[in-house]
Amino acid sequence: MIKIGILNVQGAVSEHYDITKTAVENMNIEAKVESVRYADEVAKCDGIIISGGESTVIGKIIQRRGIDTVIKENNIPVFGTCAGMVLLAKKTDFDQPLIGLMDIDVERNAFGRQKDSFESMLSFLDEDYLGVFIRAPAVKDYDKSKDNIQVLSELDGKVVAIKQDHNIAIAFHPELTDDTRIHEYFIQEILDCVV
Ligand code: GLN
Repeated sequence: MIKIGILNVQGAVSEHYDITKTAVENMNIEAKVESVRYADEVAKCDGIIISGGESTVIGKIIQRRGIDTVIKENNIPVFGTCAGMVLLAKKTDFDQPLIGLMDIDVERNAFGRQKDSFESMLSFLDEDYLGVFIRAPAVKDYDKSKDNIQVLSELDGKVVAIKQDHNIAIAFHPELTDDTRIHEYFIQEILDCVV
């Protein structure tokens, strides 16, 4: 049985917890979904979800608690949404602690102040999704020489979903919709890693 950890340090955690549980039910698999706060709890997980929130705050806590080290040492797949995308980046336009698992350069608040929040239909792996964007980041650049990086979705010429190996970063908030497909996609990624 796999264990999926929802990192519970700051931000929109409960929505991820609920939608991940629903995704597990829809997939009809044996999986435990747990809220995790400390490195030793994270180490026992097969996959970690990092929610939206304030990436500087979340990043500082992650670093202070050694959660980044445990994720890297155990090669745990990470799915980051919004602030979670920022934290997965190697580089951002701010000076902030990052986990840095993905060869992406992320711009915070990339869609400008005037539309701090908006919804837009977008195509993700050739299927239609409702993207909920809240002070959303976007991928400014990524290492195009790496063949393990795959762009999953773009909006207005900006990359808003991207995958590298078993890590997935998305700029929007699927946990604020009833659509479980992206969570299922990540859970499938975890299942592929544990076999
Ligand atoms: N702009 C925020 C940040 O970079 C992220 C916003 C969000 O997660 N909704 O930390």
